[in-house]
Amino acid sequence: MPELPEVEVVRRGLAAAIVGRSVTDVTVLHPRPVRAHPDGPTGFVTSLTGRTFDVPARRGKFLWMPFRDGDALLAHLGMSGQFRLDAPAAPLQRHARVLIDLDDDVQLRFVDQRMFGGLSLAPGGAELPVQVTHIARDLLDPEVDLAGVVRRIKAKRSAIKRVLLDQRVVSGIGNIYADEALWVARVHPETPADRLSTHTLGALLRAARDVMEAALAQGGTSFDALYVNVNGESGYFFRDDPASAGNGAPCERGATPIRRVAFTNRSSHFCPGCQRRR
Ligand SMILES: [Zn+2]
Repeated sequence: MPELPEVEVVRRGLAAAIVGRSVTDVTVLHPRPVRAHPDGPTGFVTSLTGRTFDVPARRGKFLWMPFRDGDALLAHLGMSGQFRLDAPAAPLQRHARVLIDLDDDVQLRFVDQRMFGGLSLAPGGAELPVQVTHIARDLLDPEVDLAGVVRRIKAKRSAIKRVLLDQRVVSGIGNIYADEALWVARVHPETPADRLSTHTLGALLRAARDVMEAALAQGGTSFDALYVNVNGESGYFFRDDPASAGNGAPCERGATPIRRVAFTNRSSHFCPGCQRRR
């Protein structure tokens, strides 16, 4: 599943290719990715044709492509959604679902094997689509208020890891980034959020931001081989960070094996040696 750094890589790829280009034609090859459009595939085609793209935007893992008229095309990558930029005559990818023809013989393709993702029109959503208004700013957002995020976290009694994943508190921190940040800040994932000091929470958020920036610098990190960025190159790399290592690998700060425990429908990795439960 794409995480924030990968979505940002996609956003930058799109920004380099679609800004100022107009939609000349749209082909919906499968109706499911446009299921959110009230008038179905035909309405989707009609509503996009003739519009001109502005600079793509992102908040957390939400990505949207504003049009210069104030509306936007909202994209959900779901589990396996990708954008590809190709010449219209280039062979279709096996799971190509929606083709958006732009000026200058550029075709933007939405490719999605599992089709949990999709595209929808967000009227008036160029600045912030209504579907994204409940999502808090992410840690890479230049306008994020870190002290405010710390206050929101301290007001919660749930386990800190659960709070870090709550998109209404701070967006874009996925499971692996939460594990990394908790390891760096030496915080046990089950610690109640309100028991952590302002200082520790600040360190935790900076750690989460740093690890996402490091992943972004390497083109995003994903363990999902389905993820490919807009140029078709795999965006994932294997990190040697202890918190992402397999169960039983030793912690980098000592010999204690990293433990893996069930966490909702995923898992948590932590070091029982340096992430003590308080
Ligand atoms: Zn350790």
